[in-house]
Amino acid sequence: MEKSAKIYIAGHTGLVGSAILRSLKAQGYSRFLLRTIDELDLTKQSLVEGLMQDEKPDFVFLAAAKVGGIHANDTYPAEFIYINLQIQTNIIHSAYKSGVKKLCFLGSSCIYPKFAAQPINEESLLDGKLEPTNEPYAIAKIAGIKMCQAYNRQYRTDYISVMPTNLYGLYDNFDLKSSHVLPALIRKFIEARKDEAPSVTVWGTGKPRREFLFVDDLADACIFLMNNYSGSEIVNIGVGKDVSILELANIIKEEVEYKGEIIFDSTKPDGTPQKLLDVSKINKLGWTAKTPLREGIRKTIQWYLENK
Ligand code: GDP
Repeated sequence: MEKSAKIYIAGHTGLVGSAILRSLKAQGYSRFLLRTIDELDLTKQSLVEGLMQDEKPDFVFLAAAKVGGIHANDTYPAEFIYINLQIQTNIIHSAYKSGVKKLCFLGSSCIYPKFAAQPINEESLLDGKLEPTNEPYAIAKIAGIKMCQAYNRQYRTDYISVMPTNLYGLYDNFDLKSSHVLPALIRKFIEARKDEAPSVTVWGTGKPRREFLFVDDLADACIFLMNNYSGSEIVNIGVGKDVSILELANIIKEEVEYKGEIIFDSTKPDGTPQKLLDVSKINKLGWTAKTPLREGIRKTIQWYLENK
């Protein structure tokens, strides 16, 4: 991507898109195509086609999606499949029609089978049954990958698909009903400290294991891949290390300096027992994650305290 290129970041106000925008600016890119959700409804095909035809961006980061944690996915399955299929179909097809040079489609580690061998290799895609709590979301993301691959094959486009592990960082969703575990626990521990509550409730058993990637590292990886990788094979982006939910809760508890107890609510689902990506492919391409978990959590806590 030349520094003078026009770059469309779909979803630039979200966790991922805002980090990609920050990183691109820091690297000297300056021509951006950006639309908020109020300015342009990405589920409307004619609006998306109109935007792409009028603006003709050179490169596209497809970071717009309806996302959420285990509870939101379980409660709004129809919205998760419908909105994501619509957004990605509209953008990928209109990117092709308007002659976009290269596109980066953001997938998710939940596309992999529930009982995939750990760490999860890119080859595990479609090798087994999905985790039921987020199957509609995962099916939409798998459709996006297959769409990029099909367009590359039939139309000779250059669309890459990347699979980030669980992400966290600035501009995350801290709503307790719809967020992922890391921002939820940051908020719960901060509020418990403030209210001097005797305990914090963590969902599930605390045993599931998850890998967490600081979103600025993800943005860096996406830009790196846009500049150094072409191909239809998907690429995992992660840190290559995981922690149990109990370990995560303890790190956040320490960082927030909360002195109360941690209680588990086992009536809430655990979801997939472990989600750890095999990141040897991206490591071999020349990229590794930089931010240690504790440092990323510290930055996220600081952002939350200053902004929420
Ligand atoms: P997942 O990675 O798709 O399962 O999504 P989440 O980030 O929502 O959940 C990860 C794990 O953290 C699950 O085992 C949840 O039950 C557990 N968890 C513990 N406390 C919380 C919480 O307050 N919010 C969320 N979203 N998950 C929690």
